[in-house]
Amino acid sequence: MAGRELRSIIIGAGMAGLLAAIRLKARGETDFTIYEKGDKVGGTWRENTYPGLACDTPAHSYTYSFAYNPDWSAYYAPGPEIREYFERVAREHGILEHIRFNTEVESAEWKDGQWHVRTRDGTEDHAEVLVAATGVLHHPLIADIPGLDTFERPWFHSARWDHSIPLDGKRIGVIGSGSTGVQIIAALSTRAGRLVHFQRTAQWIMPCPATKYSAEERRAFRENPALIDEVRSGPDAAARRARFQSAIIDANSPQLLEIQDIVERNLDESVKDPALKAKLTPNYRAACKRMIFSPDYYAAIQRPGVYLENGEIDRIMPKGVQMKDGTFHELDLLVMATGFRVDQFVRPMKVFGEDGLALDDFWAKGPRAYYAVTVPGFPNMVLLNGPTGPVGNFSLIDVAELQWNYFDQLLDRVRSGSATGVSPTLAALERYESERNEAARKTVFASGCKSWYLDANGIPQVWPWSWAHFTQVMEHPCLEDYHINTA
Ligand code: NAP
Repeated sequence: MAGRELRSIIIGAGMAGLLAAIRLKARGETDFTIYEKGDKVGGTWRENTYPGLACDTPAHSYTYSFAYNPDWSAYYAPGPEIREYFERVAREHGILEHIRFNTEVESAEWKDGQWHVRTRDGTEDHAEVLVAATGVLHHPLIADIPGLDTFERPWFHSARWDHSIPLDGKRIGVIGSGSTGVQIIAALSTRAGRLVHFQRTAQWIMPCPATKYSAEERRAFRENPALIDEVRSGPDAAARRARFQSAIIDANSPQLLEIQDIVERNLDESVKDPALKAKLTPNYRAACKRMIFSPDYYAAIQRPGVYLENGEIDRIMPKGVQMKDGTFHELDLLVMATGFRVDQFVRPMKVFGEDGLALDDFWAKGPRAYYAVTVPGFPNMVLLNGPTGPVGNFSLIDVAELQWNYFDQLLDRVRSGSATGVSPTLAALERYESERNEAARKTVFASGCKSWYLDANGIPQVWPWSWAHFTQVMEHPCLEDYHINTA
C-alpha cells in the first residue's frame, strides 16, 4: 500500500458499498465501517422482493469483475439469486464484520480534515473518507391518486411487498408499466383470478431470451472463465452495447432505427388483436424511456383474466379503482409499481462540506457531481452511481467499479500525505455540467417522453456520451480540475 492507511465510512451495504469495502480491503485498508439502514446487505435487491423480480442486464455482466459467478441459473438472473450473490460475496470477502446494520446515518459534516458522521441512534464516528453508496431507486414514489386513503383492502408499493397477502385466485390491480410493473404482471398473470394492469403510458418492449443455464453450461462456466468473459465482453455484448450507446447519443442514428424496428416487430408479432395492439403502442420513440426487456409480458397481458386498462383513473374507492369513463375495477389487492423519487440520492441525510456548505443548498436546483462522482466543497467524498452517471441498460456494477478506480486514485494524494482533502473545483463542475446538458438535449431520452431520467427542466440527468468516453475519463482523474487541500 502506497502511503498511510485512511479511515473510511461507507454509507450503504448495497452493490456499490460492498464494492468500495472490498476494494479498500484488497489494498490493505481495513479501517472502515459500513453503515446500513437495513438488516441485510443487497440494497435494491434486499428491498425489492416482488414476484417476477429479475435483472434485465445479463447476469454475467451484472457481476463484480473480481467475483465471477459460474452458477447463475439463467441469462437474466432472478432477484433472490442476485441478493444471495451479494450476501455470499460480502461473506467471502470478510465484509460483514465491518457493517453496522439497522443504523441509519443522519448527518455527515466535514470539519478539521475529517468527516464527522452521526447516526440516528446517536453514534458519532469520523473518518477521512466518505463513500456515499446510497443508491438511486430507494425512495418509493406513491402515486398521488385521490382516494387511496379510503381503500379498504391491502395495498403497497412494489418495493414494500407484503408476502402475507394471498395472491392466488385474487383480483389484483397493478398501477405502473415501468420495468417493475411489467415484471409483476408477467409473474402474476398465471396466479391472479383477475389481473388489471393500469397503464398510463405504453412502453416499447424489447424481446429477450428466457434462457436458463443447464448444469453442463454452468460447469463449463466454472471450468473455463473465458466463457464468462465472452458473455461480458465478447463480440455479441460489444455489438449490443455499441448499438445501444449510439442510439442513446443520437436520436437520429441508424442504430436507434434498428432498435425501433425490433420493438415494433416484437409488438406486431406478439399481439394480433388490433385494439390491444393500439393500447400497447407508445407515442414516442424506442429507448426514450428506459427500455424494457421482457420475454413474457405480451403473452401475459393476453392471458384470460388479464386486462390492460389504459383509461384515466378517476379515484380509488373503498373496494377498487374508478375510471373516468365510468368503469369500476373491484380489487382484493392494489400494487403501486409507480417508481421512485430519484432526486434524493444521499438525502434525507444532511451533508455539510467545507465552511458548513449544505449539500441540500448546493443541490437546490438539482443533484450534480463532477463526472458524476465528486462534488466541489465536499472533500474526499465520492458518490457511487450518483447523479448524471450512465443509465439505461448498462451494468451499474461496471459503472461503480470504474467510478471507484477513479476516486481511489484521488485518495492516493491523501494517502501519500501531499493532501488532506481532494474535491473538484466549481469551474470544473460547471464546465462539465454545461457540456453535459448540451449533449443531453440531443439524446434519445429528450426525444419526447416523460421519464425519471428528466430533471425539472426536462433535461436528462444522465451521462450523454459514449461508454468508451466514460471509461476513458474514469481512467485517470485530471488533477488540474481538483483542489488539493493541504493541512
Ligand atoms: P418507473 O420506470 O419510474 O415507472 C413507474 C410507472 O408508474 C410508470 O409506468 C408511470 O407512468 C406509472 N405512474 C407513476 N405515477 C402514476 C400515476 N399517478 N398514475 C398512473 N401511473 C403512474 O418505475 P419502475 O418500473 O419501478 O422502474 C424504475 C427503475 O428501476 C427502472 O427504470 C430501472 O432502472 C429499475 N428497474 C430495473 C429492473 C431490471 O430488471 N434491471 C427491474 C425493475 C426496475 P408514466 O410512464 O406515465 O409516468
